Amino acid sequence: MKENENITLEMGGGGQKSAELIAEIRKVIKDVGKWKNTQDDGAVFSLGNENLIFTTDAFIVDPIFFAGGDIGKIAMCGTINDISVMGARPIGISLSIVVEEGFPMEDFKKIISSINKISKESGVPIATGDTKVIEKGKLDKIEITTAGIGLAQNVIANGGAQVGDYVIASGDLGEHTVALLAKRFNYKTKIKSDCQPFNKIIEKVGKYLSACKDPTRGGLAANLNEIADKSKVKVILDENSLPYKKEVVAMTELLGLDKFSLASEGRFIATVAPRDIKKALAILNKFNKEAKVIGRVEKGRGVYLKTELGGLRKIEVPRGKLIPRIC
Ligand code: MG
Repeated sequence: MKENENITLEMGGGGQKSAELIAEIRKVIKDVGKWKNTQDDGAVFSLGNENLIFTTDAFIVDPIFFAGGDIGKIAMCGTINDISVMGARPIGISLSIVVEEGFPMEDFKKIISSINKISKESGVPIATGDTKVIEKGKLDKIEITTAGIGLAQNVIANGGAQVGDYVIASGDLGEHTVALLAKRFNYKTKIKSDCQPFNKIIEKVGKYLSACKDPTRGGLAANLNEIADKSKVKVILDENSLPYKKEVVAMTELLGLDKFSLASEGRFIATVAPRDIKKALAILNKFNKEAKVIGRVEKGRGVYLKTELGGLRKIEVPRGKLIPRIC
């Protein structure tokens, strides 16, 4: 990074610029002690015959209430899901809230109820927390940070994909970004955020997954590039089985967005060995009929889309402007 450079919105978008910002932190903070997988969705600490998974996330979503969720729900789901994609059972969440003076108590209570609902639904208790109030005008309404821990017998690492594996999506993608933008722009759509905890799905299907990630910021493009990079493989997506609904694609065309970088907050993508694919899909389809194979893992590097005409188009890590404050 150049001298006198300032932080830009792109550095928080989950794409190439975010990676550069994290690299700046890593230049200073190098020692991770005994923690492993510190660049995955959750860091891993070996307890001997089990592994502790630890992760954290800050939520600054705008608007704070949207179709299918609110900032409280997303703060729970984001952390529960980041633990789950590591193949772990989440066992506790910490909840830290910074709220602006003047924020309506009624809205605050709604957000807390929503947090409690997800805690009950997922079976993951809030173990500890903190609240701070900041002077009016010093924060846009509310910011929530959650951290969480989980336990895993077998860790699913981002670098676990093998040549020959199938690539699957647990459901259609991108609905979270579309629901949020629709609310921002007052655009009518039936699409709701996909925001949901998926720990109970991973509990059932986790043993069949060789790599797994949740396509939040940066979407499918960022996820698959990370898996391809860390696993040293090539991913080929099939244009005929892309996991996007018509309404979602229409919205991206209207707003000039790239569908491959749309965020979901309740979906995961994973790689599965050919011997396990039938079993994995049978489980996934019990939870969501949209779950399907979207591509294959091959020898090589990078992520490509195989078009209907048989050509290959490279799917890059998102570089351009990504939509701020979606999570
Ligand atoms: Mg993640």
